[in-house]
Amino acid sequence: VQQRKLVVGNWKMHGSLAANTALLNALRSAETGPAEVVVCPPFPYLAQAATLLAGSAIGLGAQNCGHEAGGAYTGEVAAAMLLEFGCRYVIVGHSERRADFGDDDARVARKVLLALEHGLTPILCIGESLAQQQAGETRAVLQRQLQAVLTHLEPARIEQLVIAYEPIWAIGTGLTATADYVADIAGYLHQLIAQAMGAADNRPAVRLLYGGSVNAASADWLRQLPDIAGVLVGGASLKADQFDAICQAF
Ligand code: PEP
Repeated sequence: VQQRKLVVGNWKMHGSLAANTALLNALRSAETGPAEVVVCPPFPYLAQAATLLAGSAIGLGAQNCGHEAGGAYTGEVAAAMLLEFGCRYVIVGHSERRADFGDDDARVARKVLLALEHGLTPILCIGESLAQQQAGETRAVLQRQLQAVLTHLEPARIEQLVIAYEPIWAIGTGLTATADYVADIAGYLHQLIAQAMGAADNRPAVRLLYGGSVNAASADWLRQLPDIAGVLVGGASLKADQFDAICQAF
């Protein structure tokens, strides 16, 4: 299946009204390529971004959602609220949230289910730490993180997920995995997904992204990997020229 490639910008806790206006106006006026492009600003800026992106092909996503549909959860934001503010995507289980905000496998699974129930496409992040990689645990870690979510989903629902493979040691470090490494892991992840779906095809129609210090140079080889359907971009998504170059590559 030839899928439309997906490029997602994760702004993390960056931005201001002025900076967002400049960034989104620069992206809007930039020529758009064939890839689907999504930006994920911090919660308070979703309304501003939705206004600035009105009529644009660039879509909107959030960086997280609450693990319950609503209620007494101070500081949390529900999936239904994201939908009201124009989000179509939500990043779930980013390694920074797994490390610092109690997003364990069970909670990540809850968030994925809630996102799907509300018509949002979850971008499920998985990835091994440097210590896990050095201990030879990469595949076991990825299998655990993936199974924790996939066991709760029917094949038709699994197909709606976007999965982002982000080795933690490559996030924000300037280190990118090599093409061989990404290709090998991506093949393995597709196998796991196919198994969970009971699919005979070893490359099911789930979009698998790579993330970790992606820039224009790495986008150029990443786009050539058949198992990789796009990228999740942190730092470089805050710079219009860099993000635009990555989008054009796909
Ligand atoms: C991320 O935040 O998901 C990410 C991959 O960040 P960076 O591109 O800065 O490594």
